[in-house]
Amino acid sequence: MGIPLRQQIKVGAYVARQHLAGRRRYPLVLMLEPLFRCNLACSGCGKIDYPDAILNKRLSVEDCLDAVRQTGVPVVAIAGGEPLLHKEMPQIVEGILAMGKIVILCTNALLLEKRIGDYRPHPRFTWDIHLDGDKRQHDWAVSQEGVYDRAVAALKLAKAQGFRTAINATLFKNAEPERMARFFDDVTAMGVDAIMVSPGYAYERAPDQQHFLNRMKTKELFRGIFARGKGRGWKLGNSPLFLDFLAGNQTYHCTPWGNPTRNVFGWQRPCYLLGESYAKTFAELMESTDWDKYGVGNYEKCADCMVHSGFEASAVIDSVKRPWKAVAAQLRGPRTEGAMAPEIDLSRQRSAEFVFSAHVDQAMAGMAHEPKARRGGKLNAAKHGATAAPPTLAAE
Ligand code: SF4
Repeated sequence: MGIPLRQQIKVGAYVARQHLAGRRRYPLVLMLEPLFRCNLACSGCGKIDYPDAILNKRLSVEDCLDAVRQTGVPVVAIAGGEPLLHKEMPQIVEGILAMGKIVILCTNALLLEKRIGDYRPHPRFTWDIHLDGDKRQHDWAVSQEGVYDRAVAALKLAKAQGFRTAINATLFKNAEPERMARFFDDVTAMGVDAIMVSPGYAYERAPDQQHFLNRMKTKELFRGIFARGKGRGWKLGNSPLFLDFLAGNQTYHCTPWGNPTRNVFGWQRPCYLLGESYAKTFAELMESTDWDKYGVGNYEKCADCMVHSGFEASAVIDSVKRPWKAVAAQLRGPRTEGAMAPEIDLSRQRSAEFVFSAHVDQAMAGMAHEPKARRGGKLNAAKHGATAAPPTLAAE
């Protein structure tokens, strides 16, 4: 159990209120991307492939707080890009905490040691450090040697200073259950408060298209890992039914509105992973999106998706509607043997649309009319190591 009981109660009470109010669709976790600029260039990332003018854009503190107000969510996950490159990140975090929200700050941790003095431990604040596996696996995933060691040093520093810490592990095709299990032992020994797991999403713009998992491979991989986890004391931070879903025991449709995404383009439609178009406000996103066009079985780009940002909300909502199911999954852990739940039929999904360059052109045209201050400061990614030669797994 990686999530504090008070936070579980806060989220559970919020979901219960939405049901009592008869809301069919509602947000749960705001995915806030105040910038796309990153100081890494991971081969599986589809978020940073933009011209400099867009990478230099920032959401202001007020933009971020307004996004939280518009959604009313109990949890805000701050991602990017690398959030610690945003000069006003401490004010953004403080502002959201002051609104009574749970804040998860996702970081590759390369700047954490330098910036940690700008933050204070808080029961509702978590450093969520990107670590995709052991040293060899993580340095391969982020395409740069030495990042694992720096992230682990930062994690230990944050622990020593009294912060709540989590790791965020995205798994790819080359993840091995036995090695991942040993890695989870390692981070457990470091005292990490939660291990968050997810398969990677096959971003169409990611440089490496070879290593994304399909749904069957995802389920087999997670069964292999979870089968090794019994009795090892891992604090898995995802909800028990999401873990059971990853192990192939639940047929969930995604809940893309559960994790709405606000970034420098606006409100991303339909979800954190897919940017097919953008709305100006959260209300417009919810009201004007044709949600039935998306999801596994509806859209080709969704076919392999089992990502936490799409399905964790589905699992949490199921947990609140059927608490006995969640309690059973919590007590027994994810089932790792036997028949899997039925898969969703893909035969009638619509074909992929490729819209990336239209967004970029539109954003660039819009920026020509913006005041200079809104466009953010220039930052040289190469200075932060984005051009370092990527390590290969075969090299070891
Ligand atoms: S399945 Fe859902 S969460 Fe995944 S990419 Fe498609 S719309 Fe987004």
